[in-house]
Amino acid sequence: MFRGLCLVFTTLIVCAAWTPGAKAKDPEARAGAVDDARLRAADAEPGSWLAHGRNWAEQRHSTLDALNAGNVAQLELRWRYDPETERGLEATPIVVDGVMYATGTWSVVHAVDARSGQGIWRYDPQVPRAVGQKACCDVVNRGVAVYRGRVYSGTLDGRLIALDAGSGELIWEVQTVDPELYYTITGAPRVMKGRVVIGNGGAEYGVRGYVSAYDAETGKQLWRTYTVPANPADGFESPALERAARTWNGSWWELGGGGTVWDAMAYDPELDLLYVGTGNGSPWVRALRSPGGGDNLYLSSILALDPDDGRQVWHYQTTPGDNWDFTATQHMILAELEIGGQQRKVIMQAPKNGFFYVLDRRNGELISAEAFADVLWATHVDSETGRPVEREDLLFEESLQFIKPTFFGAHNWQPMSFNPKTGLVYIPTHEILGAYRRDPGYRRVEGEFNVGTDFNVFSAFGPEAVSGHLLAWDPVRQVEVWRVPLGLPWNGGTLTTAGNLVFQGTADGRLVAYRADTGQTLWVTHTGSGVIAAPITYAIDGVQYVSVMAGWGGAFALVAGPAGLGAARGPGVLLTWAIPDAVPTPADFESQITREGGVAKGEKLYHTWCARCHGSAGVSSSRLPDLRASQQRLGEAFIQVSLHGLADTGMPAMKRYVDADEVAEIQRYLASLPAP
Ligand code: CA
Repeated sequence: MFRGLCLVFTTLIVCAAWTPGAKAKDPEARAGAVDDARLRAADAEPGSWLAHGRNWAEQRHSTLDALNAGNVAQLELRWRYDPETERGLEATPIVVDGVMYATGTWSVVHAVDARSGQGIWRYDPQVPRAVGQKACCDVVNRGVAVYRGRVYSGTLDGRLIALDAGSGELIWEVQTVDPELYYTITGAPRVMKGRVVIGNGGAEYGVRGYVSAYDAETGKQLWRTYTVPANPADGFESPALERAARTWNGSWWELGGGGTVWDAMAYDPELDLLYVGTGNGSPWVRALRSPGGGDNLYLSSILALDPDDGRQVWHYQTTPGDNWDFTATQHMILAELEIGGQQRKVIMQAPKNGFFYVLDRRNGELISAEAFADVLWATHVDSETGRPVEREDLLFEESLQFIKPTFFGAHNWQPMSFNPKTGLVYIPTHEILGAYRRDPGYRRVEGEFNVGTDFNVFSAFGPEAVSGHLLAWDPVRQVEVWRVPLGLPWNGGTLTTAGNLVFQGTADGRLVAYRADTGQTLWVTHTGSGVIAAPITYAIDGVQYVSVMAGWGGAFALVAGPAGLGAARGPGVLLTWAIPDAVPTPADFESQITREGGVAKGEKLYHTWCARCHGSAGVSSSRLPDLRASQQRLGEAFIQVSLHGLADTGMPAMKRYVDADEVAEIQRYLASLPAP
């Protein structure tokens, strides 16, 4: 009988197949069954990697320690998955209940068996390739969010898509930008409280930045918060933007303004605050953007928003009146730190401008800010005013200036990580000399780079002008603890673990594990392509894995010319390592020899009287009969054959040792074993 539900129409029969083994419609049994409770308790569930930054605090610290400083040198490649691209790979994969979700170039979403690397499904949103021209910094994507059985992802052409986590089928998609304008999405969405939050990029091309929230279930837009004011004559969307407009001059709205929310966010469920970082001005040169000056709020700022309505609660501007493309979209980490004898709820950021900021995340108050890299554009951040003190002698309106950091940033989107055990933040740091000159011939070209600086002066630089290192930074004392020089800049994001480890990929195509407390190199492997993405770690059935997407690309790869030629430039690949199956200890066998129930007696008899020839656990690698098969084939005759033997084969008569009841016990044991 066909077991299922059939609806008979005139010309076709539609059947919904039902199988007894199929999982019930319990939402917890679905693929991607992540909810707020799981996200909030992500640290208690280190086997999965539930969110972009592992948890809402975006710490990128795993409490797994099966892999540790003592054994990490044994890591071996476990599997590789081909995302079929030769462009940049920037995504942090998410792992939920054994399935890995990652994005490749052109916003393609991949679901992969996290244990084997076998592809499960792939969703190509068919981004028109002409959109690539709108992307300042490669046709990349930094990952998905997984929530309530769905996978959410932004597309380069500005859509937010919701896919079924089990099948990869499209559930809904919404266009989050005006496709006539020069917006793109490369950042990962974040989810909380039934909302999917997504920003966008495009400040180089002249857009107005904003961040939006959509209903996770339906895709309905719930709120949109702009980061810079529009034309005051048209009114303001919020009091915060009315205040911001007083810090702008000229007709900035005709140029877009900038302030795009193109990457970092974090969420504090206790304070119920969503933190977003905003980008640079459009154009870069402030004299062009806002003649007469002004701070140009809320460019290059950290904004704390109410996730229910997008209302701004506080702001902190890292680079007032940004003149250099010093975005504050870089990774933000929430942590509890003891500072001056007090436990402080902090938010930490190392934005492009070269200062490491520690703020009170309840109110945005500056706790401290110190240079974590070479900083030439400012002398320091004034702790009274919270403002950087600019070097007037390095302003480039009139003349060429050599400045550090540059528009590549002392730290860019490559995520940093925070290890609560060592108390250190691990920062992929870039040292890149910049040449800035206001372009004397600048004129605005619709739909092209509108930054106002002369790129020709930058093109003179080769490898000698650039370097990078992995930096371990103490955020309490605001000092460097150790660094590993890496030659090239534009190395990958970092991962840190409770096993006293830091992992980072490099531009020259390595993945390296370091001791988290000292920076000692413990393990090195080669990926074939420059690694810019951040590694993750997860565990399935007690095996701890480390994964990273290797795929050279992004802004530095596109723009830096001769300075970037030392990078490894192989095709993109998703790689996963684990320690080869560990040698078990005697304790690991205990569960195997202590069986419960009726087979225990038969098992003991089998191993006493049969196993010497027919093999332990009913299996022999010799040519003697497999007794699992024999008992099945012989049925009741199994007892007689056992008792009386088969003289011409050498099978002895066992009646000297066991009786019929005992052979029946043996047969029950054999029947309980997996069929041969
Ligand atoms: Ca920018």
